[in-house]
This record gives sequence, C-alpha cells and structure tokens, in this order.
Amino acid sequence: MEVTKEKFLELVKTYQLDSLEKVKKAYALAEYLHKDQFRESGEEYINHPLNVAYILAEMHADSDTLCAALLHDTLEDTKITKEEIEENFNSDVANLVDGVTKLAKMNFATKEEQNLANTRKIITGLSNDVRIIIIKLADRLHNMRTLQYKRAFKQKENSLETLELFVPLAYSLGAYRIKSELEDLSLKYLKPGVYKQIAQKQELIAEHSMPFLQEMLLKIQEILTCNGVNSEIKIRTKNIYGIYKKLEEGYKLSNIHDLLALKIMVDELYDCYISLGLIHHLYHPMNSKFKDYICNPKTNMYQSLHTTVFGPNGELVQTQIRTYEMDKIASFGLTSYFDIESDDARVKMQKALKDKFQFFTSLVDIDSTFKNNRDFVREVKKEVFADKVYVYTPKGEVIELPKGSTVIDFAYKIHSDIGNTMIGAIVNDADVPLSYVLQNKDRVKVITDKLISTPKKEWESIAQTSLARRKIREVLKSN
Ligand code: MN
Repeated sequence: MEVTKEKFLELVKTYQLDSLEKVKKAYALAEYLHKDQFRESGEEYINHPLNVAYILAEMHADSDTLCAALLHDTLEDTKITKEEIEENFNSDVANLVDGVTKLAKMNFATKEEQNLANTRKIITGLSNDVRIIIIKLADRLHNMRTLQYKRAFKQKENSLETLELFVPLAYSLGAYRIKSELEDLSLKYLKPGVYKQIAQKQELIAEHSMPFLQEMLLKIQEILTCNGVNSEIKIRTKNIYGIYKKLEEGYKLSNIHDLLALKIMVDELYDCYISLGLIHHLYHPMNSKFKDYICNPKTNMYQSLHTTVFGPNGELVQTQIRTYEMDKIASFGLTSYFDIESDDARVKMQKALKDKFQFFTSLVDIDSTFKNNRDFVREVKKEVFADKVYVYTPKGEVIELPKGSTVIDFAYKIHSDIGNTMIGAIVNDADVPLSYVLQNKDRVKVITDKLISTPKKEWESIAQTSLARRKIREVLKSN
C-alpha cells in the first residue's frame, strides 16, 4: 500500500481531529526542509518521514509524536535547529526529535565504541521518554520495508542489528505487530533461501487447513451467538520467523500446533471463560495445552486464554480467546496507551513501563551498575534480551528472570532482605540447593532466617543476574 499525505491526514482525522492543523503544519515544514532530497529508491525524501508517521498513526499516537515523526530527520539532514522546532511547536516535539537524532548521531573514537554507546543510548532512552524509542522502532520498520534499495552488505548489517536490538525492544514493550514484521524482514535478508522455503510451506499448510478452520470458525461463532456472546473470530498465521525458530529448536513442521490459530475476540472478560467452556464442549481440549494468560498475564502485559483442541479429523488447533481490549494490547503492548488517553500519553506510558514491565527494572539496575558501554550491552543482551524463565512465587505471582537464573537470583529479585536472610529454598515442594537452576513454571519458596543477615561469599559466583551479584557485594563490603 502506498501512503500519501491525504491518506495519512484522513487517518489522523479519525482520532485526532483537534490536532489536525498542528500535524499539517509539521508535514508542510518537513516537506519544505527536505525538498530536493531523495532516498536511494529515487523517491522524494518526505515519503520516509510520512511513512514513519503513518505507522505511528496506525497505533493512534498522540499529535506530538506524529509531529516529531514527520520532523525526525530534519535536525540531522537540514538546517533547522531544536530551538526553532520548539518555537514552532512545543518543547515535547523538540525533545522527541532531538532524542531520535541523538540516537543516530554519536561521535566516538572507534566505530565499535560508537556502536556500543549508541546501543546504550537507545536502550536507556526508554527511561526518559519511551516515545523516542517508539518513533525509532517505526523509523526502523520503514527502513526495513524499503531495504531492497540498499547494497547487499548494508542489508545484512541492518537486518542483524534489527534482530539483535530492535526486535527484543519491540518484544519487551509488547509491540508484537512491529516485532513480527521486523523479524520476517530480517530473516528475508539474512537467509533468503530459508525464508522462501518456509513461506512456501506456510502457504501449503494454510491451504490444507483452511477448510477445517473455516468449519470450526462457523461452528464456534454459532454456539457463541446462541449463548448470547458477541464475538469476532479471525484466523491467525504464525509469522515466518516464528516458524523458523521452532524448526531451529528441532520441532517438525507437523508438530507446531499454533502454526494457524483461531483468534476469538469478545466484549467482556467473563465472556472469555464462557467461550472457553463452549469451545471445550464442541471440541475436546488437550489438557496439557491450556494456558490462562488472563489471570497470569505475560510480563509484557499480554493477556489471553490459549487452548489447543482436537478439531475435525483429529487436526490439532490452537484457539486464543480474549477481549478486544486485550487484543489491542496483544498487538500494540505499551503503545496501546497512546489510545487510552492521548493527552498525557507520555506520563501514562512512563508509569506503565515502571509498574508493569519487569524488564524495565532490570534495565535501570544494569544501567546504574555498569559504567563501561561494552559491559552494559553485554549484560543487557544476557539478562534482558535473552531467553527468559517464568516462575511462580508462593502466591502465584509470575516472576521473569533470564534463563540460567538460580534460586539466589529469584530471592534478590523479590527483595534484598529475602536474599540476605535466605537459608534454603523449596521448589515444587522439594528442597533444592541454592545453586538450583530455575525452570519454567517452577513454584519457588525461599526459606529465611531473620537472625541471619549476610549472604555467603560463594553466592556471588553462583548468581547469574547483575542485580543479585551487586546486592551480595554491597552487603559483604559493608560488613
Ligand atoms: Mn529516518
């Protein structure tokens, strides 16, 4: 689809009528400043900021974010200054443009140090105004969509950086839609052969599955309607990179049960459970494949019920049941806050980031512990962007930790007092040593003794997270 100025403004009108003039003004200014500039594709440069702004308008971004997106390359590529942007708009727009520019423009001695410093800037930028990162994600998405005009080396380099940095960022923020598209585009350039092969197989499977999925869709729709539940059902396909990863893990294509799934959206929370019951009435569930992410949300806020059922002819089909509201969060994550109250999007988002996203606390901690950029980036990759384990507290709260974490890491993540007074641990009703490596779904209970207040020296080398190690060191030093 080609994005035009008219299409963009139409979209903005649907949810930001009051700010239309301001957005138009930003467009006019960007167009004027970028005149005579062209992209490698040969098209006028303004098309790029326009597309970036369009991606953000699709998320219902607030008007400051849209203006900043339109102007995001002007500080770097044209003569305008930050002060002039502030005079023409406001300090938020100016700071956003400045923030996005600084992410791309750092001057350090060696290329490598520059990259590391830049990476750190991008990641820690989350704590100032997360909208800077969201604009950066939209910018990267459009650049990836138009990567065919770059040279082969640049294509691979950008794709790798996208997979290593922007995909985990999008995932952490729960922005699944952007994440999936970035993944597929990266794979397409990094492994074109594999990408093509999977894409073809995916199509074959979709062709094979469509008839029984359609049949199920109609039957489910009917039983829900009969029982007074309004719903909308869609057939959802796993993205190509998602399939690729499963295959890499050793799965056979025929054993990936969520290749195609039925997504059922309903109005109210309790409709989810009514729907679940009705679906299980129609099709036998696989007991081991049921997940309640509504009562136990994922740590990036994702909520849904997942149940895999025996469909027609014994075909296994995953169904995902959620409200429209949950579906919005499933697609857009933190960025869905744009839509909730567009006036103070920034405040709402920063608060949600702090309160609801566990990765953010780890990030802040790593940032304060590691002064050296190389160490910082290494730790973030290891702890924040790497694979995670999810374990339960005795009260059923879900705690996210990097894979390989031990009971010691768990204790310090809960509270330093728990860590410092720990004398043992029980995992799934059995005593375990403190070096026990946590597995998904473990129930972890830490045994403490209030008379003890110092960790053991050897814990420092057993702990995997920088948080635990730092806290252990702090106590040991002060004694
Ligand atoms: Mn750009």
